Amino acid sequence: VIKFLNTDFDVANEVKECNKLIRTLKKKNELVKSRNEAVRILKELTSKFIQIIDYFETPQAKKYFPAKTLSYIVINNAWNGVSFLNPQAKNLDFYDDFQSYFVEPVKKYLAEDHSKDKYICSTCQRPMKKLEYSYGFLNGMGYDLNRKTSNAWNFSNDLYICPICQLMYSVVSAGFTYNMSSQGIFINDNSSIIQLKESNNQMLESMTSDLAKNSHASPYRAFASAFKNELAKSEKYTMANVQVITYDDSKYSFKIIPAIASEVLKYAANKNWKNGSTMLTSLYSTGIQGFRGENYYSIFSAVINQLMNNTDLTNLIYTMELLKVTKTQGCRYSTFNIMSLICMNARLINEISKLKGGSNIMEVNEDKLHKMRGCGVGIREGYASKANENKAQTLAYRMLEALRSNNIEQFMDLLLNAYLYLDKIVPSVFISSQTDQKVFKQYGYAFVAGLIGEEFDSEESK
Ligand SMILES: [Zn+2]
Repeated sequence: VIKFLNTDFDVANEVKECNKLIRTLKKKNELVKSRNEAVRILKELTSKFIQIIDYFETPQAKKYFPAKTLSYIVINNAWNGVSFLNPQAKNLDFYDDFQSYFVEPVKKYLAEDHSKDKYICSTCQRPMKKLEYSYGFLNGMGYDLNRKTSNAWNFSNDLYICPICQLMYSVVSAGFTYNMSSQGIFINDNSSIIQLKESNNQMLESMTSDLAKNSHASPYRAFASAFKNELAKSEKYTMANVQVITYDDSKYSFKIIPAIASEVLKYAANKNWKNGSTMLTSLYSTGIQGFRGENYYSIFSAVINQLMNNTDLTNLIYTMELLKVTKTQGCRYSTFNIMSLICMNARLINEISKLKGGSNIMEVNEDKLHKMRGCGVGIREGYASKANENKAQTLAYRMLEALRSNNIEQFMDLLLNAYLYLDKIVPSVFISSQTDQKVFKQYGYAFVAGLIGEEFDSEESK
């Protein structure tokens, strides 16, 4: 960038000099010996800093430095390899480069007569004289049409675009919201252009504030925040059937939010939970360190992802409880968070079975879920009073195995034995829900959540 600034001030060298002076200043002992020397160095540093600040304040510096940074951390998420992101073109002024690569062809196109053109643009259907431009420059979209001809039917490709579409696609990164790990999201909430902008601006705000706080900026959290915001404005807001496009690991995935997922999210976003948070927000920072090959496995992202696929959360709940029972390191969640998932899952299961219809639908009842958790707490405390605390963990582990293998009979055996041992009466919920495996299991997981408990969770004592 420096070469575009037309100044003799050698900023790279000046910064190096400053670093040297700062290193000298850091050698504490010497400066204690010679205070005058310290003052001299500070004065020299100050004047150098002022020069450097002035340098970055010039209009030329403001024009080139931020643009260069953006091209490497934001723009290159959407496309690469051409124009100013072509590694061979790094000596060209990148504004001129963009102009000649993307803008000039549009000007030329608009000036030409297209009445006799043979081809049409595969995106906008405008007529074209030649097959020149393709999606190939976009990351994860298309391929080099001239080199990989065998990818197309009969070796003749028709996925060409006009220069106007090429220019439009060059600004994809302006619409997407990215974090610092090259993950991005775009809500195609296109009922109106205002709605589209609002939803995506809200995500950008949320992501920016997460980045500023140095926390894990997840695109899914930004998504949930946009959803919550729209919901706050109108109770009737729904994201059902809206398209969400996520970008991760250089791949795009396109999803239509199912009506059921929208319902479950709405329920969780409106549900007041612990310490002023909602059920949804309480899950934001839940995760597991060093899990499934990931440095940090975000439970929140997993939940949203599974809801979008209408997949129920039972397996995730099982895993979260198992890791707790086996006291695995790196679990960043409480049994309270597990209960959030169980409640959301119950909602999902109920919505799905409503959709399927039929007679005798058994629903998972939220109050009963909380009661079953309470029963689990009761058993744990019962064991503790008989100085048999480890028994609760063992029971939890065996119950989880019974639930995982859909063995209701075995779960009931374990339950009856526990209640017999403590001389208590078995909760009737388990007796009455045995006919529906799915429903039964939800109560089972809620019971195990109570059984696991946590020493420092004040909620447990209720
Ligand atoms: Zn076009």
